[in-house]
Amino acid sequence: MNVSQPRAVSRRRAVSRRIDALPASGIRRFFDIIASMEDVISLGIGEPDFETPVSISAAAVRAIEGGATSYTSNYGLIALRRAISDMLDRRYGVMYDAEGELIVTTGVSEGLNVAFQALLDPGDEVLMPEPYYVAYPPNVLLAGGVVVPVPTFQEHGFRIQVADLEAAVTDHTKVLMLGYPSNPTGAVLDHDDLSALAGFVERHDLFVVADEIYDRLTYGTRHISFTSMPGMRERTVLLGGFSKSYAMTGWRLGYAAAPRELLEAMMKVHQYVMMSAPTAAQYAALEALTGGEEHVLSMVAEYDRRRRLMTDGFNRIGLTCFEPRGAFYCFPDIRSTSLDDETFSERLLWEERVAVIPGRAFGQSGAGHVRACYATSPDQITVALERIGRFVARLHNGAH
Ligand code: PLP
Repeated sequence: MNVSQPRAVSRRRAVSRRIDALPASGIRRFFDIIASMEDVISLGIGEPDFETPVSISAAAVRAIEGGATSYTSNYGLIALRRAISDMLDRRYGVMYDAEGELIVTTGVSEGLNVAFQALLDPGDEVLMPEPYYVAYPPNVLLAGGVVVPVPTFQEHGFRIQVADLEAAVTDHTKVLMLGYPSNPTGAVLDHDDLSALAGFVERHDLFVVADEIYDRLTYGTRHISFTSMPGMRERTVLLGGFSKSYAMTGWRLGYAAAPRELLEAMMKVHQYVMMSAPTAAQYAALEALTGGEEHVLSMVAEYDRRRRLMTDGFNRIGLTCFEPRGAFYCFPDIRSTSLDDETFSERLLWEERVAVIPGRAFGQSGAGHVRACYATSPDQITVALERIGRFVARLHNGAH
């Protein structure tokens, strides 16, 4: 019998040192556990529970049926770029030329990658308000940059303080990362905050990557784009998207706006790694911008109701919860239970089948907190709060 021998495995290391050194996502192990369990209420994933509005999906279907199945311009459909440019002017009073200052990207995820690739040389430092969205540090590291976490605190409403940035800035600092409204804290910045940050950026001659993907999801306050601060448009890469405001996470669509020279540098990366953003999704996004406003408003009103339900619920249970003013997350303080955030999340999952994310997944200063997403039905939120209440009562009563 002719039994073939397995071929020798290469003695060279398969994985590059750069990727080997990249920390794996802290929340993946958690999602693996959740996937193996039944009857779990997940407040873990940051994703709208709504489906994409039918009129938006229909625009993509029409485009496909009409034969729009090839690449678009590397920059994206010109009609979509014009609609984005109009929206930024209308909402924030900032002007971006649809020809040369805007790229349609494959989500803000791609935007983050191309922005840091374009901005950073090896060793350049990026000031990173913490807790931060999990993808920010890896994208800095992949571009050869150095992450400099700058903690934010509950007593300041998790708004980054210029004094803390001043203490962290060095001669190597090149970029300030601003992700507001914030995932995971729900913090927003007001005009005075933005103005103080603009002064800091100017003083130290920095650039800014502003991830404003949650710009439409604010409650009782209107988002102000960092690019609208005097002098900041020329120093900022503005990232925005469709995933959250229009319940379009699976379409993979966003945009990047930047001054011409920076945008051209980003385009070099985008054209080689992505060619162009998904074509059908671009038609859907065009419909979202031109006819989707009523859907945004009704989803925001619904998130606002759920936000109050969850924030009040946590406070009633005895887990102090800072009032989130944007995005769709609560970030309650769990220190009164004497458990650390990882043990709290793991035990809550096993004992009461509710999934939340340990705060340290978003950086060390997330310690003592957990993130709970309220983009889920009010019924589910109510049951989840009952279960969390039971769990916390046991801990507060000393049943460790
Ligand atoms: N930025 C933030 C702050 C996010 O929370 C997310 C998704 O959770 C993203 C970017 C990724 O967005 P996209 O779906 O546009 O890639």
